[in-house]
Amino acid sequence: MPSEFQLIQQFFQREQAEQPAEGVLLGIGDDCALLQVPSGKQLAVSVDTLVADVHFPADADPGLIAERALRTNLSDLAAMGADPLWFTLALTLPAANEDWLRRFSRGLFACAREFGIALVGGDTTSGPLSITIQVMGATQPQQTLRRDGANIGDFIVVTNFVGDGAAALAAIQNTHKFNVEHAAYLQQRFYRPTPRLSESTLIRAIASSALDISDGLVADLQHICDASDLGAVIYVEDLPLSPALQSLNDVTQARQWALSGGDDYELCFSIAPENMPELAMLIAQGKLHATVIGEMIAGGKVVCELNGEPYTMARTGYQHF
Ligand code: ADP
Ligand code: MG
Repeated sequence: MPSEFQLIQQFFQREQAEQPAEGVLLGIGDDCALLQVPSGKQLAVSVDTLVADVHFPADADPGLIAERALRTNLSDLAAMGADPLWFTLALTLPAANEDWLRRFSRGLFACAREFGIALVGGDTTSGPLSITIQVMGATQPQQTLRRDGANIGDFIVVTNFVGDGAAALAAIQNTHKFNVEHAAYLQQRFYRPTPRLSESTLIRAIASSALDISDGLVADLQHICDASDLGAVIYVEDLPLSPALQSLNDVTQARQWALSGGDDYELCFSIAPENMPELAMLIAQGKLHATVIGEMIAGGKVVCELNGEPYTMARTGYQHF
């Protein structure tokens, strides 16, 4: 039976050593990592925990668990306008299962390579399966995407499609039926959400505020409203729905998922009218898939309209407690 140190060495330190990493003066193996923030940049830091059977099924593919954990954290960097630099990993494991760790580590490093982020340390303990990842990234001081920057009259935009996260959960839990192609698409969207990092680099000079949609569009947009001391109106007929959601006969269900389902990991941002031509150009050039879905207004609450009429939803967003 290998010791904890051998496992760390085998599955994390060795892999990490093979990846060139910017600014890592000292990586895994000492009491702390020593990191050099690029000059003139600010450090953006975020941490998230995934707990087995709360955030993912305990028997899920370890490679996919690793990917999901890292991708959702990278999504926070994208939402802040930050470029990925480093991450740490705190793993709590019920057993030192080498096969599980091998697959976890493969998924983790494949993802780390894809998005250019380096593992610089962590912690390994025994207990019920949970994964905590802390990501660090670099921002330009004038191009951070904070939640408190929205202004009245700004347009509200989302990237790609909304509602896929909730639809994926329904597909995985078998409460809704999708055809094979749509089910496969939704499965990918759930386990391998794409952090919108390239979108973030395109919009960070022109957006006034942003976040990533993890708890549901309405619930998350409310955070921008609270921070910016404003309200927002969402035009429900404009919500971008994926072909998978459009394949449902039930458009009300699809809209409900788009408005209140979690786990989309798309960016929702506000943008001043004077910056709309630049955004329109990025969209027309095919560099950015994004849709205007509403506007910042006075008030303090997110409201929804369907074809000009008030639209009420059954529920808003996922809450842990
Ligand atoms: P300490 O007791 O000083 O905290 P640890 O035994 O927890 O040291 O960790 C030893 C080294 O291994 C540290 O550099 C730590 O960052 C790293 N490490 C431990 N667990 C992990 C992990 N799951 N992933 C990456 N690095 C890890
Ligand atoms: Mg430790």
